[in-house]
Amino acid sequence: MSGILEGKKILVMGVANSRSIAWGCAQAMEEQGAEIIYTYQNERLKKYISKLVPDEKYLFECDVTSDTSITEAFDKIKNNFGKINGIVHAIAFAKKEELGGSILNSTRQGYAQALDVSSYSFLAVAKEGVKILNDPASLITLTYMGSDRALPNYNTMGIAKAALESEVRYLARDLGKDGIRVNAISAGAIKTLAVSGIKGHSELLKISQSETVDGVNVTKEEVGNTCAFLMSNLASGITGDIIFVDKGVHLR
Ligand code: NAD
Repeated sequence: MSGILEGKKILVMGVANSRSIAWGCAQAMEEQGAEIIYTYQNERLKKYISKLVPDEKYLFECDVTSDTSITEAFDKIKNNFGKINGIVHAIAFAKKEELGGSILNSTRQGYAQALDVSSYSFLAVAKEGVKILNDPASLITLTYMGSDRALPNYNTMGIAKAALESEVRYLARDLGKDGIRVNAISAGAIKTLAVSGIKGHSELLKISQSETVDGVNVTKEEVGNTCAFLMSNLASGITGDIIFVDKGVHLR
């Protein structure tokens, strides 16, 4: 099937480089006919995304820890593209100290930062998003199964993902009347910049691979294809849900 996103304008937040899950989502949605708009975190990261998306008109700076930055980015997107049909939020951060050993290593500041960037930001983006989203529209975020089980080293990020998944349900409840569906994709382990912050990430990737149903890790392309489906009208009955795209790792 092709062209399920023909005529749709989708904002993708969180492409750091070609390994990013957000890039897998963007490419899959583009293949289905969508026009993709991007935000990047800061000038340093702009260098990398510019190599993937050379046309400046599709690129907007947005640091999700700043309400001003989010508002400015959405204002610019509205001025340049008008209303849009969906947003993919593929953003997370925690300091290395929060991602290893005992959960007691967590600090007040590190915890607050991880929850701010990785959970609250989805709510902050939704607040601005509703102003420029069409009816129907779709909001998608990325989560991991460390949200509901105590996985080694995932620690504070697991807590942030639990909050994020809860947000998905509350947002789905409150935005349904505006025709906006809200879902999360719970992706399997994929080697990206974000994963390299987790202590023992090579081991995590190996264990994850051995726990898939076929011994092959999920790819960003497979996650991207699910994103394209969830973004499309084919998924009109799905909201408030967490969809696993992990080759069955969550079955263990
Ligand atoms: P990535 O490093 O490619 O992407 C993370 C992105 O978050 C980067 O683009 C970074 O710039 C952005 N970001 C961090 N702080 C930000 C800020 N203050 N403002 C704006 N952007 C900010 O890594 P990824 O693995 O593709 O991560 C994307 C999402 O997928 C994350 O939510 C991650 O938790 C989730 N996820 C990843 C895996 C995996 O194994 N890689 C599995 C499940 C879920």
